[in-house]
Amino acid sequence: MSKRGMLIVLSGPSGAGKGTLCSQLLKRRPELVLSVSVTTRPPRPGEVNGVSYYFTDEENFKKMVEKGEFLEWAKVYNNYYGTPKKFVEEHLKQGKDVILEIDIQGARQVKENCPDAIFIFILPPDIEELKNRIIKRGSESKESFDLRVKSAEEELKAMYDYDYAVVNDVLEEAVKKLESIIVAERCKVVRN
Ligand code: 5GP
Repeated sequence: MSKRGMLIVLSGPSGAGKGTLCSQLLKRRPELVLSVSVTTRPPRPGEVNGVSYYFTDEENFKKMVEKGEFLEWAKVYNNYYGTPKKFVEEHLKQGKDVILEIDIQGARQVKENCPDAIFIFILPPDIEELKNRIIKRGSESKESFDLRVKSAEEELKAMYDYDYAVVNDVLEEAVKKLESIIVAERCKVVRN
């Protein structure tokens, strides 16, 4: 029997460029398996059913929720998104490492259901600047903090539940960091 694969969760705030990062990672590491999510969002030009997403309607999505077909699911910007449980489970059993590219709410559910998964938080390129502004808050007037900084603070808090954080500033560098994390995780000694 082959060793069980690793479940790798890539998540983070919107605008972090998770999607681009994920597709670059898959190009460099073709042994990784991407879980294709189910969504009620209409396809964008060029998106192919079964490749980008499995596109469905709300009624069918809710049926799938009731039948327990999702490992996790969430409502993101008025649309539903979910990770098919069976696909993930089958590939992990075959010893394949599976990647989930999902939002923060979904990652929280995976953390509860699959605590052994590896959680990687992707930070948007401008977050360092935002962080600096937040850190310097003492010297700035409260008014100078707009809604965006506030929501960035909220989103940043989620980072502390993750195993790793990668800033997506230079794409190539960020992909290398992801690869290094995965390689290191494969070398980890498992203690019982
Ligand atoms: P988009 O509609 O731009 O492709 O994705 C919108 C957001 O939904 C992104 O943050 C993406 O990571 C997230 N997302 C995509 N698939 C899933 C999923 O299966 N579950 C959850 N929770 N979020 C998802």
